[in-house]
Amino acid sequence: NISVCWFRTDLRVADHAALTASMSVGPTVGVYVVSPSQWAKHDDAPVKVDFWRRALKALHADLADLNVLLVGLCVQEWADVPQAMLEFCQKIQASHVFCNRESGVNERQRDRATYRLLQAHGIVMEGFDDATLLKPGTVLTGAGVPYRVFTPFAKACRERLRTAMPVVLPAPRRQPMAPASILSLETPETLIDRAGYGDLNTQMRDRLATLWPASVDAAHERLAQFIESGLSAYHDQRDYPAIEGASKLSPYLAAGLLSPRTCFVAAARANQGELDSGARGALTWMNELLWREFYRHLMQAYPQLSMCKPMRPETEKVAWRQAPDEFERWAQGRTGVPVIDAAMRQLLATGWMHNRLRMIVAMFLTKNLLIDWRQGEAFFMRHLIDGDFPSNNGGWQWSASTGADAAPYFRVFNPLSQSEKFDPDGRFIRHWLPELADLPAREIHDPSPVARRARGYPDMMVDLKATRLRAIDAFKV
Ligand code: FAD
Repeated sequence: NISVCWFRTDLRVADHAALTASMSVGPTVGVYVVSPSQWAKHDDAPVKVDFWRRALKALHADLADLNVLLVGLCVQEWADVPQAMLEFCQKIQASHVFCNRESGVNERQRDRATYRLLQAHGIVMEGFDDATLLKPGTVLTGAGVPYRVFTPFAKACRERLRTAMPVVLPAPRRQPMAPASILSLETPETLIDRAGYGDLNTQMRDRLATLWPASVDAAHERLAQFIESGLSAYHDQRDYPAIEGASKLSPYLAAGLLSPRTCFVAAARANQGELDSGARGALTWMNELLWREFYRHLMQAYPQLSMCKPMRPETEKVAWRQAPDEFERWAQGRTGVPVIDAAMRQLLATGWMHNRLRMIVAMFLTKNLLIDWRQGEAFFMRHLIDGDFPSNNGGWQWSASTGADAAPYFRVFNPLSQSEKFDPDGRFIRHWLPELADLPAREIHDPSPVARRARGYPDMMVDLKATRLRAIDAFKV
């Protein structure tokens, strides 16, 4: 009775519902589907695929310790997955396939089609809700419908979690040696290498490997360090991009090297098990994990979110501007607003951007430039190492005021005041815009025309006040 554990964005062995179930049923083989054309369709960033490749290498070793082999299947698109999975199961005579569910519509369609085909051939496929603290679809309002507003959703989650803290499963026990017939198959890392996804040069690859070491051990180390020395100051420091005030665990959560349960339980433990009182740092951080939870529950409840649709249908009427040149200036960090350009350069150089800056650049694109949030969402996905469909979609719809619980359309961030408030001495700007490094703090947020010209730095591409009013008008309509 061979059993297959199908890995996706859950690249770990501990606290993995599908792997645990699989290994309790029979000798297990791990499989990972490499699907370059599908990834390109979903705008999966080359930096993220590189992170997956490195994480798969580490997973390979962790699974080998359990005597589980990890093999790769290569298909171009998910439409080809059911047949490839069936052939694989038949080849190794597998009777079961276990996987952890993903919340996007395409992911669910892929799984349903695979389930049906396998079932028609007598192979059992079973899915688990493992990517959230609570099962999507089970956190409902008094009226029995999914929450659309975060605060009551988070309260309801805390009430449930207070009485039943999530259980963090240990890694399964080592199994006897897996069947030798599989040894001839290729590893997913090799298949990704061969697919040559994206165009990362060696320098970028090396930088990413240093910034984001991709292993479960590295993830746990980062979590332990954050809990030990970052959690207590998190509430006060998280909004300042020049300070390492946040955990930088998002790539690990997005690829599933860490489970949300592991993070939440670690923070709760540091707060003596309290979810509503105690240290502000721990409470605020747990709240952020609940934002992640919220967006996943929303995505499962509202399929339109996976179909490029806004949560608020009336915002379909906003007349977004077609302005490819302006979009390009934003994307390349040449807007002439230092905090925005510094943020975009951080993204392009490291695959990550600070949360406060994500909100600032997203609001600038959708409000001051009045460019469709979907363009920004796709650009982020193409460049983020932590690109995560539910959180990215949620973040963009929040910023564009099209989302379930979003910023009101008339409350448009002023990027200059945000810059003065959250990067008061300009340290972050100086780091990413070395051409402005010599400017004093009072001038760095909005250099004078003379200072800009002398440093080859562009003039501000828009009038912030006028474009703010234009956005408010566009939304009023
Ligand atoms: P911490 O502050 O340490 O938070 C811990 C974890 O909680 C994060 O790793 C993340 O998993 C979760 N989290 C924190 N804030 C949020 C939030 N607002 N929404 C959802 N989850 C949150 N996050 C992604 O993981 N992937 C994305 O693709 C993504 N795109 C975004 C796009 C926009 C426009 C905005 C405004 C936010 C986006 N976020 C995204 C949310 C947030 O910016 C990142 O999760 C956070 O910056 C990651 O840094 P960290 O790990 O240090 O977070």
